[in-house]
Amino acid sequence: MIKQAIILVGGKGTRLGDLTKATPKPLLEVESGIKFLDVVIENFARFGFNDIILLAGFCGEQIAEAYKGKNIHGAKIRVIIEPEPQGTGGALLFAREFLDNWFVVANGDSIFDFNLREFAKDPSDDFIARLALRQVPDPARYGAVTIEGDKITAFLEKDPSLQGPALINGGIYLLSRNVLDLIDGPCSIEANIFPKLVEMEKIEGQEYNGYFLDMGLPDSYAQSQREIPVWRKKPCLFLDRDGVINVDKGYTYKPEDLSFIDGIENGIMAANEAGYYVIVVTNQAGVARGYYTLKDTDTFHAEIQERLASIGAHIDAFYSCPYHKDGIIPEYTIDNHPDRKPNQGMLLKAFDDWSINKENSFLIGDKDHDITAAERAGIKGILFKGQNLEQLIKENLNAKP
Ligand SMILES: [Mg+2]
Repeated sequence: MIKQAIILVGGKGTRLGDLTKATPKPLLEVESGIKFLDVVIENFARFGFNDIILLAGFCGEQIAEAYKGKNIHGAKIRVIIEPEPQGTGGALLFAREFLDNWFVVANGDSIFDFNLREFAKDPSDDFIARLALRQVPDPARYGAVTIEGDKITAFLEKDPSLQGPALINGGIYLLSRNVLDLIDGPCSIEANIFPKLVEMEKIEGQEYNGYFLDMGLPDSYAQSQREIPVWRKKPCLFLDRDGVINVDKGYTYKPEDLSFIDGIENGIMAANEAGYYVIVVTNQAGVARGYYTLKDTDTFHAEIQERLASIGAHIDAFYSCPYHKDGIIPEYTIDNHPDRKPNQGMLLKAFDDWSINKENSFLIGDKDHDITAAERAGIKGILFKGQNLEQLIKENLNAKP
């Protein structure tokens, strides 16, 4: 599972004029207290990219001040500042020692919404770059891309004569480290390296048609302030864990004991594709009882993510409640903790941490206390009693008004 995302935030933002004279454009706010870059980072973190590197340049110290060393939705953020601009290729070369064998690259000033897990699935020797492509009606301002099957066959430069609709480079790349062998100094990966990969037949494209916004132009910055808050606000499928995601073997925590309940993987994938957040809320009294630690539950959750990633599915976040009145670990031995279902504490935390549209959200659990927690949090609770789980999820996704 590919876990590294490199976000390019070194640009000068000259097209935005005064707004970005002393501020990198990804640091501009799109809603109160939320920067554009927060939204970009959040989107990678929720797809399980937990190693995020910001490649900064212009006003890089402001980026470092805001993000260096932070943990955002489980992702650790590193900031690397280039001493001088060397183009996108040069920037990657500068970060060489930090790069994994495979990593995803994106621009910090654009949003392109699609299933990043599915995009980053199954890297192979057949290619060293995979691009997310987007069909647009007006390719003239972007330049176009042509494909045959999965292979990219040409990049056509920006030109007023380009007629749409056509595919464009959506600015999100899955790259192998091997691409660095083609870079020997300052260059643009788009203008100088990708055309070489076309000649080598080592570059492929996947088309997606989700929400797309490049906030580099003055009117699209205004557009981002109008649209991003709406786009970010998504309904959520809340899932209980034991007995809904994995077979409940009684205080299950070892990765080798993970067996999925029939239909859950495809159900989660359907929720991912429908634009839902998928968030797990699980009572883990075994921590209070000393059977295993919170770190063990994290390891178990990483195994769930790893197996889901193999089909291109993911869970956005896990909330675990380690408290129980009959514990032996003092710090977790608490009666009726507000997080422990049937209390709604974990759901309230999720509402705080994510921009969730409660109205279309629902929870699936296998115990009455799950349903009570959902009702207390003001969302629909659905009791899973062994029916077809994939269908149960799908029919409720479709039930949104
Ligand atoms: Mg359960």
